[in-house]
Amino acid sequence: MCPKSLKFVGVMTLIPFLSVACNKDTSISVAPTVNSSTTPTAVENPSSQSQPTQKIDDSQLIDIHSVNKNILIDIRYATENNFMKRKVYPVARCLLRFSVAEKLSKVQEELAQQGLGLKVYDCYRPLSVQKQMWKIVSDPRYVANPSTGSRHNRGAAVDVTLVDRTGKELEMPSEYDNFTARAHRNYSNISDQAKKNRLLLEEMMQKHQFVGLPTEWWHFDARGWEKFPLLDVPLDNV
Ligand SMILES: [Zn+2]
Repeated sequence: MCPKSLKFVGVMTLIPFLSVACNKDTSISVAPTVNSSTTPTAVENPSSQSQPTQKIDDSQLIDIHSVNKNILIDIRYATENNFMKRKVYPVARCLLRFSVAEKLSKVQEELAQQGLGLKVYDCYRPLSVQKQMWKIVSDPRYVANPSTGSRHNRGAAVDVTLVDRTGKELEMPSEYDNFTARAHRNYSNISDQAKKNRLLLEEMMQKHQFVGLPTEWWHFDARGWEKFPLLDVPLDNV
């Protein structure tokens, strides 16, 4: 999901043609039962490097910084700097399925060899927050209907961009959560540098088993996301 400093009402009226990002999930036949009594509990990975490697069940969520501390986070929904102009996350954390976090860490490691890195805008999103978003914006163009959920609700999707070694974002075709055609991967009326950066992000993510969404340059699903059920573990309870 998506826009940032959008004048939300303006966007709603000015951009009727938009397809929306994280909402492509609506076409997916998923939605395993979410049952609080059986929902896997999110866990923290041991942070000490001296501890022996612990096998983590992929049914769990893990904080990305337990896997790779060099990935920057700018969780927009934990601030008012998002298309809803409301803070809907209690904390700014990037939680993902363990295997997904490991893949993202590999992308970070490879980018670091080029003096670059990742910054994430959104990772796992609790289903209850999806419902809250839906109440605020009941428009499938902007928010995935919680009845089917988003891949973010499965801990298997990430919204991400590139940064340089100082943490500064590289030029991209648009701001995060821009719901216009500028966010589409095939949008071409942009600078050569933005094209180059968008392509680099896409190639690096694809190399490590992520698939980009056609309508959002920042959104990537981890391959195999279908096997993960929707979750409603609170972000501040991990
Ligand atoms: Zn997304």
